[in-house]
Amino acid sequence: MNSFKFELIHQSQKSRARVGRIHTPHGIIDTPNFVAVGTNGTLKALDNALVSEIGLQLMFCNTYHLLLQPGTEVVRQAGGLHKFIHRHLPIITDSGGFQVFSLAYGSVADELKSRGTKKEGGSVLKITEDGVLFRSYRDGQKLLLTPESSIQAQKDLGADIIIPFDELPPYHMPAADLKRSLARTHRWEMRSLEAHLKNPQGQAMYGVIHGGIDPLLRKESCDFLTKQAFDGFAIGGSIGKNRSEMFELLKTTMPHLPEEKPVHLLGIGDLPSLRQCVPLGIDTFDSSYPTRSARHGVLLTDEGGINITKASYARDFGAPCLECSCPTCTKFTAAYLHHLFKAREITALTLATVHNLHFMVELMRKMRERILANEL
Ligand SMILES: [Zn+2]
Repeated sequence: MNSFKFELIHQSQKSRARVGRIHTPHGIIDTPNFVAVGTNGTLKALDNALVSEIGLQLMFCNTYHLLLQPGTEVVRQAGGLHKFIHRHLPIITDSGGFQVFSLAYGSVADELKSRGTKKEGGSVLKITEDGVLFRSYRDGQKLLLTPESSIQAQKDLGADIIIPFDELPPYHMPAADLKRSLARTHRWEMRSLEAHLKNPQGQAMYGVIHGGIDPLLRKESCDFLTKQAFDGFAIGGSIGKNRSEMFELLKTTMPHLPEEKPVHLLGIGDLPSLRQCVPLGIDTFDSSYPTRSARHGVLLTDEGGINITKASYARDFGAPCLECSCPTCTKFTAAYLHHLFKAREITALTLATVHNLHFMVELMRKMRERILANEL
């Protein structure tokens, strides 16, 4: 039984922005929405009961990390990821491909410095038609990740939304190589889809659009993948070295995707990108940015981030963020939060993360209201 469904509620008259609802076996995701990253089955510094209370409707977990620790077999024996991590709301997992290839090539930022050469000690040993042979960063063991083994791992985890195995080509890959990589990624995605459809388990699978920063390859990827039985789409791979390049690429790519299916942007969720990309019709965004900033003492507000570790907060006995109704700001003062960061108490990380996630939940709720009013 497939209980996954995307319901379009309202299409803005002002842009391609839309309000929708993704129905999953573990409940509804109102869109557009922000997806926090809980790599190891937890958002750093928060337990999952608290995350649900804050109202975060979709959580992203990384198959690669869970494969290496504790092992997806352990999670399966525990009754699946929802049960294992005590989360009753929807979860999305990735294929593991992103992490494996990131280890080999580094991030776009690393790569811009090294001009696309492989990182010293990168752990990918071999890429073949079958899959990727890599060395575990935990114990040095050799592991083969293939479309079939990635899907098996994601079946063990049992997330509501899963992702086919793909290659993450580096930003500077030559055009001919990028074309070959795209063709192989499409073959890997088809093998993933086939493995998934043998045992759907009520899970939905999003096809991942690739093609680097070449608009024609992106179109080719959309044309090919939209003909397949995917439940939605994710935009992956290198999407540009800066926000304006990313925006231009997404603007030309989005019209090639069908309106009746949800679209996720992989790995992007900073505030300026959200404001630019929601009007393009993208429905969900995952990023570790709000939780990572929190751990550095940066609290998100409508006016931008404020750094609570600054000396000016030492005697500020008001709320950390005035106007904020989160559990942190309604109970504690800026001075106390400042003190906890200065004293290196781990409670500081929890209180700041609660605020930033609450901020993201509210930000997206307000965006949906503005779309409904055709203001966005
Ligand atoms: Zn707050």
